[in-house]
Amino acid sequence: MGKKQVVLIALGGNALIQKGQKGTAEEQFENLKSTMKQIARLSKKYTVVITHGNGPQVGNLLLQQESCHEVPKMPLEIIGAMTQGQIGYMIESSLDTALMELDNNGSQLFVTLITYVVVDENDPAFQQPTKPIGPFYAEERAANLPYHMVKTDKGYRRVVASPKPIAIVEHREIKKLIEMDFIIICTGGGGIPVIRKERKFRGVEAVIDKDLASSVLAQEINADIFVVASDVEGAAIHWGKPDQTLLRKVKLGDLGRYVHEGHFPAGSMGPKIEAVIQFFQNTGNRAVICHLEDIEKAIDGNAGTEIVQ
Ligand code: ADP
Ligand code: MG
Repeated sequence: MGKKQVVLIALGGNALIQKGQKGTAEEQFENLKSTMKQIARLSKKYTVVITHGNGPQVGNLLLQQESCHEVPKMPLEIIGAMTQGQIGYMIESSLDTALMELDNNGSQLFVTLITYVVVDENDPAFQQPTKPIGPFYAEERAANLPYHMVKTDKGYRRVVASPKPIAIVEHREIKKLIEMDFIIICTGGGGIPVIRKERKFRGVEAVIDKDLASSVLAQEINADIFVVASDVEGAAIHWGKPDQTLLRKVKLGDLGRYVHEGHFPAGSMGPKIEAVIQFFQNTGNRAVICHLEDIEKAIDGNAGTEIVQ
């Protein structure tokens, strides 16, 4: 048998918590089922690397620590590590079930890796925090908290910087695990942001976009296929308007033009488009944005938005 191709699948928030849900453990396990069934089947043909978001899970942990004054508050880097552990555990156990249901032989290896991602301490994002995280606060409460805050419709919210990911610290470990055909769950929540100081890493108060971090990893491991899976069929132009049109095979040049025309908002579809463009430009390999239910179809070329030359 020839070497398996490598697929990197970036799972959107919906893989774990769907719109309108509270995010109980039961809900998250239930939601993971259909994605993990697909990944179990895909693992027969491909070496699979899984990355995932962590926004709601970080929000819940922050809310828990805001509501309790008896234990010390943990900085964002540690909250990030906690979510990589909890989500990694939920994915692993759902994946284990799916693999056992598929062929009951338990031979497929998988692992969750705590992952750091290097950012530049001079990234302009640190001067201008833009990413809202955690609970909403009333004005009086917000005034007494030591955070940058933004005013939103639902109250005040903490904002942190969202610097660009530069490199995945554990990329060598990940490459070794790929050679051994592990299913690897890593770079959760975009990774724990760190800056390099001489020979040391230091965590910073920031969050990295998971689509951009996944793209950096996909490039570093030279993935054959990069899949960004979310709760929509793909990227559309004129989103939310009567002339909304789903893009299927889209030329790189056309996609660049649509970016300039402002079809993809910064907080949602924008980073996915940027992620697939960067990957495609730097590797020439396949990159597709699709619905979580369509991962296998998209890999077969029958669903999603795929960039072509
Ligand atoms: P994820 O958790 O998967 O990263 P996001 O909410 O960040 O999900 O991004 C997916 C969302 O992007 C969709 O649910 C959709 O509402 C929104 N969206 C914004 N613009 C577009 C567009 N042009 N095409 C498709 N979806 C879009
Ligand atoms: Mg997103």
